[in-house]
Amino acid sequence: MYNNSTWRFFVGILDFLFPKRCVGCGRVGSYFCESCRAKIRYVAVNESICPMCERPAIDGVTHPGCRTRYGLDGLTSFFRYDGPVRKAVKVLKYRLVSDVSAEFVGLVPASSLNDVPKADCSIPIPLHPTRLRSRGFNQAEVLGKSVAARLNIPVRTDILRRVKITTPQVSMKTRDARLGNMKNVFRAVKTIQNGDIILFDDVFTTGATMRSAANTLKRKGAKRVWAVTMAR
Ligand SMILES: [Zn+2]
Ligand SMILES: [Zn+2]
Repeated sequence: MYNNSTWRFFVGILDFLFPKRCVGCGRVGSYFCESCRAKIRYVAVNESICPMCERPAIDGVTHPGCRTRYGLDGLTSFFRYDGPVRKAVKVLKYRLVSDVSAEFVGLVPASSLNDVPKADCSIPIPLHPTRLRSRGFNQAEVLGKSVAARLNIPVRTDILRRVKITTPQVSMKTRDARLGNMKNVFRAVKTIQNGDIILFDDVFTTGATMRSAANTLKRKGAKRVWAVTMAR
């Protein structure tokens, strides 16, 4: 065991070798410097969208006409996916910096967290085991744990599995190709007893991944599946 001063000495060396740099502009000091913080755009209340059709929807609740038996019930996204937020998400995809994740989630206003409906647990979108091995960690899980801690709900990583490697949706040309790509991507290995679930991911882009995961969870007994993402 090291005593305190020895420990502080090592931490000091680490800070010297790898100083915290702003993910937005590279300035040394913190992961989100003051001027980049000021550039962060939040998703305003009137900018909420329906997770099924992606058109404006009050409080992110799925439109009555878009509701399906196994569909998502709503969506809460905290930030607009641009500027320093976009950079933070990219940094977290390729480098595990848990401090970045904690600081990032710390930027979510308490009022935005209050807009998330009460749930029994949070399930981060899993990576395929092959991807997980090459990357070493799942950024959705790292962020999801910090968000769940602030929501005061447990994280479950033992229910949903990713069983198919998918090509990035943006590289697929037709809608049919995209739909086929997301078919049978997930498998739920445990039955859910009437649970209300928060499905968590870093970014909501096309929504196809989250809709597919919600479908799988609802077929296994989930009552309500609400999507939550850092950005959109
Ligand atoms: Zn900065
Ligand atoms: Zn809709």
